[in-house]
Amino acid sequence: MEKIILGNWKMNPQEKEEAVGLAKEIVEEVDKGIIGIAPPLVFLSDVSDVVSDSSVMLGAQDVFWEDKGSHTGEVSIDELKSLGVEFVIIGHSERRGLGESDKEVNKKVKQVLENDLKAVLCVGEPENMRNKGVDVAKRFVSGELEKGLEGVSMNDDSLIIAYEPIWAISTQSEGPASVDDVLEMISFIKRYLKINDLDGGTPVLYGGSINRDNAGEFLRTKEIDGVLVGRASLEADEFLKIIKSA
Ligand code: PEP
Repeated sequence: MEKIILGNWKMNPQEKEEAVGLAKEIVEEVDKGIIGIAPPLVFLSDVSDVVSDSSVMLGAQDVFWEDKGSHTGEVSIDELKSLGVEFVIIGHSERRGLGESDKEVNKKVKQVLENDLKAVLCVGEPENMRNKGVDVAKRFVSGELEKGLEGVSMNDDSLIIAYEPIWAISTQSEGPASVDDVLEMISFIKRYLKINDLDGGTPVLYGGSINRDNAGEFLRTKEIDGVLVGRASLEADEFLKIIKSA
């Protein structure tokens, strides 16, 4: 399977010019592969102009589950589509940490899939669960999958899972999880999807402190279908090196 490399810019950068500049630097160097960037909502329109004629996919960091109407501060799937958004990150641990529930995550996943965009569902255990052992971590992750994918049946490639152990995300950690730990959990997730008839060849990515130095060992591992990159996606040179290591 071709590797998927997605950058989540989170609430960065602070200036439109910087966002556009970063997107331009990436677009200039990328002419193949499954590469995507998810800028902040306010810069989607400008970054969309930059990526529109390129092979780089535009992503959003969230979406609301209702189609339209009185939902102050939210963004609809059609609004995202009108800007050329192709994928939406859902259930990132930073959003769950602000109170987003599995039920809300599930409604968002369904909204995205029903509207033919790619849904990147983030799952991953917190440190206190991992400390209780890998079986507890697996139970936590399968619980997130079960609730996040309730009522979802698919046999296309619109669903992407990102395994992001919270303890390995760069803001919480000195480095990534080990390739062995990631491999074990990704294999578990793939088995879970298969057993639950959700496996349409669903790619499962890893996210957590990926940078130019460690990307290669993850991307060379067959079962790891790609990476979701936070901090290191904010520097074009760093992100491009990650892409090249695939
Ligand atoms: C993330 O938060 O999704 C992430 C992978 O961040 P980082 O690469 O900075 O660890």
